[in-house]
Amino acid sequence: MITDKQKALDRRYLRMAKIWSENSYCQRRQVGALIVKDKMIISDGYNGTPSGFENCCEDENGLTKLYVLHAEANAITKLACSSNNSLGATLYVTTSPCIECAKLIIQAGIKRIVYCEKYRLTDGLDILERAGIEMQYIDKSEL
Ligand SMILES: [Zn+2]
Repeated sequence: MITDKQKALDRRYLRMAKIWSENSYCQRRQVGALIVKDKMIISDGYNGTPSGFENCCEDENGLTKLYVLHAEANAITKLACSSNNSLGATLYVTTSPCIECAKLIIQAGIKRIVYCEKYRLTDGLDILERAGIEMQYIDKSEL
């Protein structure tokens, strides 16, 4: 059961994730993510190229470069470089996770996901559901 207070917090964190997505240099789609644990934001991410690479995410044909990391992958791997961890945490992400990120989310011990936009492919959501991860969709109009 999600309390009204939790619902209000979920909307605020998701709005923050949306603002964070503005850091992305990607032209096709900007995605932002926050990882929250014990009422603390312990990591953040947005879609982009690996550290030290050029910022541009698309090739000369306008296609997303293969080495671009998704927002969730950036947030999870940032934690791998820190002393904190995502066990039992909540992931706030503006677009629903793809299958590659879903695998990372499961293995990272994240227990809940809140998102506001559905990615065209839903195989990520399918395996998250299979893993028993709680998922909350909040429509953009309710943010
Ligand atoms: Zn992904």
